[in-house]
Formats: sequence, C-alpha cells, structure tokens
Amino acid sequence: MTEAQSARTGDALRAKVADANERSRRGRGHPGAAVPPLPRCQTCWDIKRRRYRALDAGDRQEAARMAEVMGLHQREAHSE
Ligand SMILES: [Zn+2]
Repeated sequence: MTEAQSARTGDALRAKVADANERSRRGRGHPGAAVPPLPRCQTCWDIKRRRYRALDAGDRQEAARMAEVMGLHQREAHSE
C-alpha cells in the first residue's frame, strides 16, 4: 500500500467514525429532531415502498398514483 492509499483509507475511516458519532449524538440529545419521521403504519410503508419502486423503475404514472393513494390513506386513517 502506498502512503497516499493509506492516507485515503484513514480519511474514509475518520469520516465513518465522525458519521457514527454524529448519529449517536442525534440519537441521544433531541429525540426525533434531525431524524425524518417514520411512516405511521404498515400501509404507509407499503405505499411508500411502492412509490419508491415505481420511481426507481421510471414509472411516473404509478408513482403519481401512489402519491394520490397516500393522500387518501392519510386522510382516512390518520386524520385528527
Ligand atoms: Zn398509514
């Protein structure tokens, strides 16, 4: 391993450690503060997953449909 290579490996390691530190800091200090909110139920997860899969596949129609379904579901299941 050259010196440059080992320096790069060290950087990557430091970045990883800093990332882990950042995550555990966030986890302890303010619960839920910098963390995106989790979907509230299994149906939310399913719809989200389908939408992301459609986006991945480049299926914009299906993605739009899932966004609509999500809106309906949230109104029905999670309205306060
Ligand atoms: Zn839901």
